[in-house]
Amino acid sequence: MSSLAGSGTAHLRGDDALLSVKDIVVEYRAVGGATLQAVSRISFDVMPGETIGIVGESGCGKSTTGRAVLRIEEIVSGEITFDGRRIDKATNAQMRTHRQQMQMIFQDPVGSLNPRRAVRDVVAEGLEISGVSKAHRRKVAEDMLERVGLPADRFGSVTPTQLSGGQAQRVAIARAIALRPQLIICDEPVSALDVSVQAQVLNILEELKQDFELTIVFIAHDLAVVRSVSDRIMVMYLGKVCEVGDAVEVYDKPAHPYTRALLDSVPMPDPDEPFGGPALHGDIPSPLNPPSGCRFRTRCPVARDVCAEIEPLMQEVRPGQFAACHFPLAEAG
Ligand code: ADP
Ligand code: MG
Repeated sequence: MSSLAGSGTAHLRGDDALLSVKDIVVEYRAVGGATLQAVSRISFDVMPGETIGIVGESGCGKSTTGRAVLRIEEIVSGEITFDGRRIDKATNAQMRTHRQQMQMIFQDPVGSLNPRRAVRDVVAEGLEISGVSKAHRRKVAEDMLERVGLPADRFGSVTPTQLSGGQAQRVAIARAIALRPQLIICDEPVSALDVSVQAQVLNILEELKQDFELTIVFIAHDLAVVRSVSDRIMVMYLGKVCEVGDAVEVYDKPAHPYTRALLDSVPMPDPDEPFGGPALHGDIPSPLNPPSGCRFRTRCPVARDVCAEIEPLMQEVRPGQFAACHFPLAEAG
């Protein structure tokens, strides 16, 4: 019990989750040898069929969280449960099986694809490892290419370097889904793409999500993108979770001052609409030496003395909406 004290897990919804992350810590060795906690005792869960969006400023630990789930990054402590099984201590052989169920899509599509192989073979790559016959692999790959709008007769033989960013990302999506995973972790999947192409890729992802009954963790710093795809949102700041809740609620009625500041710092699409309030100012503190108590307090407009002394735990501020704040914002209006 005591190991969970101070972590704040009130927002976890229990045993039906497909993915459950409890109190995980990921550390890196910084230049000079000091240790930084990129992810500092965070907890969240993802229900089957749900898309959870993870947002927060650059460096808050979003990618590290995604990588920790796939055990690309090792956790120092905590628990990760996937599909009813603890995977944080799984062996490499066990992880190979689990990873088939958990695919990742990265920001840089071209860089994540083998540049020397034909697109058809790139999509079939994961199936090679799982020992499916060559003819079947080819059929699955061609079917997947068709589904992402890149018909194999035109695109099957080209190499990833001959594709546009949007096309390459569609190949990455086809490759991930060819394995029929349950969970896809998308790490800034459209951040490197032109705005006009972003919607196209997001639509394909949404379509495939329905067709293949996928569960998605969608990481992005772009709040508009996350809002459009997510059922729930998790907001991170300096390695911690600040707020979790239904996407519409969190955007309409943010409870954590950081969420509010993040939303206020997004320029409104309507130029006549004024900014909602004070935007974020001040630099993000160094993760090597995070503020005591609440990590956001040094930039928080409502911080008081207690915020420096006691770390706020996750508490339910409205049904289904949780914030780690001593002074959560009341519903505006
Ligand atoms: P985000 O994806 O939210 O931008 P990251 O998870 O990439 O954040 O990084 C979280 C923190 O960990 C940052 O302070 C970053 O500088 C640090 N970090 C990430 N990767 C490494 C690494 N390989 N070595 C040392 N520090 C790292
Ligand atoms: Mg990142």
